Amino acid sequence: MAAPGLQPGSRSGVTRAEPDAAPHLTSADFPSGRGPGRPRDEDRAPGAPSPAEAARAPKRWIPRQVLITPAAREWEHGRAIAERAAALGAEVVELRANRLAGLSGATPRETYRLAKSTLAVVVAPPSKLRLQPIPPSADWRVDLAEGCPAHCQYCYLAGSLQGPPVTRVYANLPEILGVLPDYLGRRTLKRAHEGTTFEASCYTDPLGIEHLSGSLAVLIRHFGAWEADVGLRWTTKYDAVGPLLDLAHGGRTRVRFSVNAEPVSGRYEGGTARVDERLGALRQLALAGYRVGLTVAPVMPVEGWVEAYEDLFVRAARAIRGVPGLDLTVECITHRFTPGSKEVLQGWYPRTRLEMDEGSRSAKTSKFGGRKYVYRKPVMDELKAAVEQMVATHLPQAEVLYWT
Ligand code: SF4
Repeated sequence: MAAPGLQPGSRSGVTRAEPDAAPHLTSADFPSGRGPGRPRDEDRAPGAPSPAEAARAPKRWIPRQVLITPAAREWEHGRAIAERAAALGAEVVELRANRLAGLSGATPRETYRLAKSTLAVVVAPPSKLRLQPIPPSADWRVDLAEGCPAHCQYCYLAGSLQGPPVTRVYANLPEILGVLPDYLGRRTLKRAHEGTTFEASCYTDPLGIEHLSGSLAVLIRHFGAWEADVGLRWTTKYDAVGPLLDLAHGGRTRVRFSVNAEPVSGRYEGGTARVDERLGALRQLALAGYRVGLTVAPVMPVEGWVEAYEDLFVRAARAIRGVPGLDLTVECITHRFTPGSKEVLQGWYPRTRLEMDEGSRSAKTSKFGGRKYVYRKPVMDELKAAVEQMVATHLPQAEVLYWT
């Protein structure tokens, strides 16, 4: 359906918008969340799909609409993104101004649906070209995009994105690559053996939009050709790694798969690949010589958590079995929320069963004065001891980078 302020256009065509106009969607048919209780293929080794799964393509998000700004159209990378999206059936709208507007619905939920069905191709603002430290994950944060097509009910981005959660992908990738050498050797972490590290998944899931953006492949090749003590890092809940397997990564990229126990991933991680599919993708990348990792997050003491996390690590161990030269790390992040993220998440997911009870948590103040709620020390200690023991038992070859 054509949107107010827009000329009609076909789903695969290009339409031109009036200044500052943006289309409104009228339906909610974005990829639905994955509900709890899906069957698990206990006996199937990750990387060895069942016949039914072999026929299933990796999870790919197709936005209903792609908005491209005039500034983004000046970049070849931006135009290529729009062309790829159009080829996949998205309606591409050429905006006449660089500001995204008209993306608010009547309710937070409607705004959310509209935003999560939209990809905006924009130019990264100058602030994105001044990299920020991002401990404990990496020395520096490099953003290829902002926003994510998935529907995690605990989303880390809630409360930190300005405006509706539209996925914005940056067209001026050459400019972003151009600033990286300024940070070479400027270390903010103590993990000296990793070189200067750059994290590309702070504000997006880069693999979730890679079939549209192509940015990750460019970045991986860039680091592969960069003869320096550097490392690229990114994490994902998707599994479409096929196009990345043959890239000249030079061993300078570490891909971590965000994984969780089934009661958490099955209930709260809508629109993502299943955990076993992520583990299968991890195996493929490890066999292709990539450094790999598990980001176990957010760790939650849900009912039956000990058995559920044990099961997760058993499946992870199965996924990496027999991989020659495996370089595996583990990062563990417990669940936390802020007053702002709680408010946003309850608007997006009004029926969520996610526990966000300030009364059962400890409040911590950040160095910028913000408040966040984490598990109380006895809970935290119990989680940490149990999960670290599970890692030691099932993944003895893994290096645990941090627990937070
Ligand atoms: S994958 Fe990450 S960024 Fe995307 S919805 Fe889930 S938590 Fe948010």
